[in-house]
Amino acid sequence: MDALRWLIPLLALVVIFVVGGRAILSLSSRRSEEPLICTTCGAQTDMPHTKTRGLFAVEVVLWLAFVIPGLLYSLWRQSTRQKVCPTCGSATLIAANTPDGRKLAAKFSEGKS
Ligand SMILES: [Zn+2]
Repeated sequence: MDALRWLIPLLALVVIFVVGGRAILSLSSRRSEEPLICTTCGAQTDMPHTKTRGLFAVEVVLWLAFVIPGLLYSLWRQSTRQKVCPTCGSATLIAANTPDGRKLAAKFSEGKS
């Protein structure tokens, strides 16, 4: 029973960290959203999908077995999270309101007509 005494607060901590971290990150990415253009297919969006690398299961196991690697793994997953194009799934989105983005938008709209 001794093991359970620290396992439960630890589990609670993991859940708070993972869920809280995710909520903060999704809030901050929503705030900074700007029009984006995909350099692969030319689709423009201001609501890119996000793709997180790694596995949630690995994260949980690492947290339970070793707290420090779990923390590092969580941080790595959150920091390597990518914005991907909702049309083609490529992680090649750039801001549409930059000179490069405008050039690209012009290029793709030319190709269409
Ligand atoms: Zn695309």
